Amino acid sequence: MQYNLEGISFDEVVNNKGISYTAFRSRLQPAYSKVWWDIFKGYFFLLLISAIFIYLDNRYHSAKWILILPFAILIGYITAFIALFIHEAGHFNIHPSKKINDTLATLFLCLPFGLSMKSYRKIHWQHHLYLGTPQDTEVSYFNALTKLFILETLTGIHLIRTISKKEKSEVLTKDQVRQSRIMLFGGLLFHSIILILLIYTNNWAYAITWVLGFGVFFPFFATIRQLLEHRDELAHHASNFRAQPHGKVTRLFVHTLLSSSFGAAGFTRHLIHHWDPQISYTRLGEIEEFLLNCERVAPVILSSKTTYLKTVKKLLAAP
Ligand SMILES: [Zn+2]
Ligand SMILES: [Zn+2]
Repeated sequence: MQYNLEGISFDEVVNNKGISYTAFRSRLQPAYSKVWWDIFKGYFFLLLISAIFIYLDNRYHSAKWILILPFAILIGYITAFIALFIHEAGHFNIHPSKKINDTLATLFLCLPFGLSMKSYRKIHWQHHLYLGTPQDTEVSYFNALTKLFILETLTGIHLIRTISKKEKSEVLTKDQVRQSRIMLFGGLLFHSIILILLIYTNNWAYAITWVLGFGVFFPFFATIRQLLEHRDELAHHASNFRAQPHGKVTRLFVHTLLSSSFGAAGFTRHLIHHWDPQISYTRLGEIEEFLLNCERVAPVILSSKTTYLKTVKKLLAAP
């Protein structure tokens, strides 16, 4: 059975010491230094694996052919990690000033992904408003986790299909569409400069790895992660959730070293985020602890908790 916190009001939730969630949440300010430390870690590992590839490629010339695939997967994994902080900026939680929040996000987070902060925020907010309905705007979970779908995400077919659909841009204003185009151009320019530099310095093997990492494995990880957060294991593979509601399903994932990087920036606690979207991911752990001490919602937390692997297995076995 699936549970959901949405629909339960903050006032209804009181812990065993008599503190209401409404009072508790007012103390939960974002830990900005943790946010930036986490973003730094993402870029540090991206640079580190780039340096390792280039070193190995220059030292052992024939090694490049066995390095390309694993390093492309690593680039995809790390960039998917970095991209999750765009979501945090979307909720104005990377800097106390909203204006500076968006400037920092544009420069350090959105540019490599060709995303406009304001457009992303608008699209993402529709996801919060319309989760589980045909009007949702972040809909990887409309797809069943089948071997064919995994193949489609790994070959770019799913990405092309997603880009060619216009539902997302329909919710944007003219100005937001214009900003999206500018940022897409900015992103392409950013990657072109990197690729030109790599090819110019005779690191063409790493240029290929970079393209595969950003172009194939990043969308793969981002798509599968969203699907695992929201796909109902009882949903039929042939159902069309553009026409009929999928229903609200959000999971809570066990926090381990690997899961906390795959579901970074609070995505392991996505269930809590959908209940109270304004709170910084840096405080979601404390909320989870608080909720476990509330008779009313502790069973929801306990029954929603799973692992990414268990969810993959359940969804692969779905009808
Ligand atoms: Zn969500
Ligand atoms: Zn959100």
